Amino acid sequence: MSPDKSKQPCQGLAKVQEVLERFGVAGDADWMAVVLFARNLVAEMDLFSAGQKAALQAAVFEQMGMKPLDRQRFKRVIDSIQGFLLDNSKVADLSDQLKAERDGSSALYAEMGRMVQDIQASSRTRQTSLQRMGQDTEALIVSDDSKAEVVRRFRGMITEMVAQAREEARDWEERARQMERTANFDPLLSELYSRRALDVQLDAAIKRARRSNCPLSLMFLDVDHFKTVNDTYGHTVGDGVLRVLAAIVSAHAVQFGGYAARYGGEELVVLCEGLDEDTAVVRAESIRLDVANCPCQPQYNGPAPAEPICVTVSIGVAQLGPRQAVSDLIRAADQAMYAAKTNGRNMVAAYSDTPESQKA
Ligand code: GH3
Ligand code: MG
Ligand code: MG
Repeated sequence: MSPDKSKQPCQGLAKVQEVLERFGVAGDADWMAVVLFARNLVAEMDLFSAGQKAALQAAVFEQMGMKPLDRQRFKRVIDSIQGFLLDNSKVADLSDQLKAERDGSSALYAEMGRMVQDIQASSRTRQTSLQRMGQDTEALIVSDDSKAEVVRRFRGMITEMVAQAREEARDWEERARQMERTANFDPLLSELYSRRALDVQLDAAIKRARRSNCPLSLMFLDVDHFKTVNDTYGHTVGDGVLRVLAAIVSAHAVQFGGYAARYGGEELVVLCEGLDEDTAVVRAESIRLDVANCPCQPQYNGPAPAEPICVTVSIGVAQLGPRQAVSDLIRAADQAMYAAKTNGRNMVAAYSDTPESQKA
């Protein structure tokens, strides 16, 4: 028989009370929150490895073992929990992704705000033009000019208004294109499509592949030891390195009709419609080589790094199988990429060659 789940929270709470009593702070809501967080909440988080969770719990309970458990001690415990959360590389990845999302959305909102203002201004101008034209027309009709002269001047007014409208339409077209760019391209790596655009493209590409019975492959790229680049040169230089990488990947994708996008953080994907796994592996190999042989000197505001920075990438390649969904294709390419990492990095691995033991 399965255990009675309704009793579990009470049992859990009793354990927490026990811990609090042991530390001499039974009934203290703040310490209860700390124990609940360290003992129950952290255990549920996939973000941290078992080792990290154990280290955090040990650090919290070690602090709690010291007397007195006053406000100062409480603050110290909270600081160490905060430090742990901010230090975690997965949290850093998430905060990078959130920042990229936020940047993208605010650029879009700003652009939309400007557009709404311009639309309002433009309709005001048009109203004024029409009013002026009405007044001018009235003046023309009551003037003593000949009929031919009235018609000529009237035509002149209309021609001027049409030219203005045409100019404005061209401007709006350009604005609409700009807006599409903001929505579909990554805010930091502007040559790459955004994750949002990729999701739409993936769905459409899978449908096309099924309909036409053409192969569809996906490359999953991850920068090797990128954390070291950030740690050594700083985040801004790291951003510059990612821009150089994006330019290389995007140039390759243009050559073979691939769709290059930023999957998240320092992970990129290239969707290869019409390419089978073997052909995509050849294309991926030439991207890998170009990246490895391109020392980058990223542009940034600050003292230049002493030497050009060399980075390498590990690339996994997978081909869409029958009845597979988008998530299966991404997972397969990701697993192949991890196999490339495990086998030494700076290499390309095909999913079909990846041993079962290296699939997560
Ligand atoms: P591995 O070879 O195993 O992939 O090592 P790694 O150091 O690249 O692996 P990990 O995934 O742990 O680290 C990726 C780092 O990339 C951590 C994260 O802070 C950084 N990162 C993610 N997005 C950005 C970004 O937009 N700019 C910068 N500068 N760094 C980023
Ligand atoms: Mg990564
Ligand atoms: Mg990496």
